[in-house]
Amino acid sequence: MKRTNEIGNYLDSLFPNPKCELIYHNDYELLIAIVLSAQTTDKRVNTVTPVLFHRYPSLYDLKNASIDELENILRPIGSFHIKAKYVKSIATILNEKFHDSVPRDRDLLISLPGVGRKTCNVFLSEFYKEAAIAVDTHVDRVSKRLGIAKVSDDVLLVEEKLMKTFPKEEWGRRHLQLVLFGRYYCKAVKPQCADCLLISLCHEKNKNIPSI
Ligand code: SF4
Repeated sequence: MKRTNEIGNYLDSLFPNPKCELIYHNDYELLIAIVLSAQTTDKRVNTVTPVLFHRYPSLYDLKNASIDELENILRPIGSFHIKAKYVKSIATILNEKFHDSVPRDRDLLISLPGVGRKTCNVFLSEFYKEAAIAVDTHVDRVSKRLGIAKVSDDVLLVEEKLMKTFPKEEWGRRHLQLVLFGRYYCKAVKPQCADCLLISLCHEKNKNIPSI
């Protein structure tokens, strides 16, 4: 409990008002932006989505876009062949089966191309403020460094341990804070350990602080 409070208080002090960094204007733009963010950064995604949604301003337009054109727009974010297919397929399904809206249902969401558990959790937490903790690479790394999860735990186990660690009403906020902490402070390479107030809890501190 003491450890949970210490982590929570520190995250609150660093990120009192955490926000999703993806730019979007409606439910499907958010879902597609999350799908596009796999294996790349939100910053990069934000460079292509305004172009994509300006060129194709509706799901109907996206559904009818050529794969070649979608690939050209998505090229800067990598994995653009598969991501172009996901965008077109998602737009087709949402347009034809869901009246141009994103279903608020886990099973239906996960049945969409390119949408896994993490994407589903990010979407429901961000758009509908549902209690969920999505485990991406940052959340996974930080949770393991702070001893919330074991190094050998898979993402599902990390998610379960995070849900046991933090009260349900905090899940959405903690997810965003852990992402931001991992992105800007507890980075994969050269984390800022010297300034980190969680150093006494950390399993990696000795590896990351240069000896004097
Ligand atoms: S001490 Fe370093 S590795 Fe550990 S949580 Fe803080 S920033 Fe991350």
